[in-house]
Amino acid sequence: MPNKLTNLLGLSREQMEAFLLTLGEKPFRAIQLLKWIHQFGVTDFDAMTNISKSLREQLKDCAEVRPPLVKERYDASDGCYKWIVEVESGSSIETVYIPEAGRGTLCISSQAGCSLDCSFCATGKQGFNSDLTIAEIIGQLWLANRELDTFGTKTPRKVTNVVMMGMGEPLLNFDNVMAAISLMMEDNCYGLSKRRVTISTSGVVPAIDRLKEYTDASLAISLHAPNDELRSQIVPINRKYPIRELLRSTNAYLESLPDSRVVTIEYILIAGVNDHRQHARELVELLRSVPCKINLIPFNPFKGSDYQRSSNSAISNFQKILRDGGYTVTIRTTRGDDIGAACGQLVGAVEDHTRRSARYRAKGEQSDPVQRLKIQ
Ligand code: SAH
Ligand code: SF4
Repeated sequence: MPNKLTNLLGLSREQMEAFLLTLGEKPFRAIQLLKWIHQFGVTDFDAMTNISKSLREQLKDCAEVRPPLVKERYDASDGCYKWIVEVESGSSIETVYIPEAGRGTLCISSQAGCSLDCSFCATGKQGFNSDLTIAEIIGQLWLANRELDTFGTKTPRKVTNVVMMGMGEPLLNFDNVMAAISLMMEDNCYGLSKRRVTISTSGVVPAIDRLKEYTDASLAISLHAPNDELRSQIVPINRKYPIRELLRSTNAYLESLPDSRVVTIEYILIAGVNDHRQHARELVELLRSVPCKINLIPFNPFKGSDYQRSSNSAISNFQKILRDGGYTVTIRTTRGDDIGAACGQLVGAVEDHTRRSARYRAKGEQSDPVQRLKIQ
């Protein structure tokens, strides 16, 4: 039986160098390969013209460049895209592209499903399927570049920012996410700056404690409640790692960075659950010692959830209290999308989405409430 081909898409620079050494090649070839794969989007070794014919033949025998498979693509009327991508475990995951003035944000998944079961999250309700491989994580950025036709072009870049806010908890797939992020930031690959790559976590404290050894990417914390009693109800991992520990660990990460950076505090607003004025006041006090900006996310409804989005007046009252408390506060504004790509709604169940999309098309409406990610 032939050996399994090594998928070069998922190799870090160091791994690529080591791989080439096993073929008797000099490590500098790694940079050439990385550029062909990640800057030019080339998967065919024969097209890699500055690589010797003999090495190309060798590579064909033992390696491949295999992106994950796009099963569906939805184009929203406002320029957003959502791709449903099949991964090796057989599950499907989702990747979302959100263009805004002056930037384009790609929301990448780290796992198929999620084990953490936050009460407001459709991904969590699915349970956990699998960790994505490095190739499947970086492959989402690769695919977006291919689909947006930006390989080999220097400017304008279409994906300027990456947020690990798709399906799954990135810090529970730590090694693969770290390796993929290093490819995103690698100059010979996508060259994204540390401020333009954001890891969002619900609070896996031991992993946040290790983060500084691996990356200096930006951090977003999904807080969603100003006290342990409430947070433990809606974000179950809080029972294991309560708020005080989470904020301690977050501050330690920020302090470890050479530049002055703030953490993004994500706070979903669910009617009657965590959106009272008192919650906002508590939050003002809680975050005093954390250099942060706050991103309020009106809850995105999904089938099977009883929660409702907070009213507009509750949202603006909440924002005002935080602003008066001295914080920078943004709201992820709704964008009248028609493709079901909202945070927390990503389930990667192709059938489900096909049906949903068909339903909205049939009704001729654009009412699937999709939030625009507005991460500032
Ligand atoms: N697991 C990570 C990253 C993926 S979730 C985390 O929890 O941070 C990405 C963001 O979407 C999180 O802030 C999450 O709380 C939010 N989210 C989940 N369900 C949502 C919903 N139904 N409506 C709005 N935002 C939601
Ligand atoms: Fe998992 Fe994040 Fe959803 Fe919670 S909000 S269930 S951590 S994906």
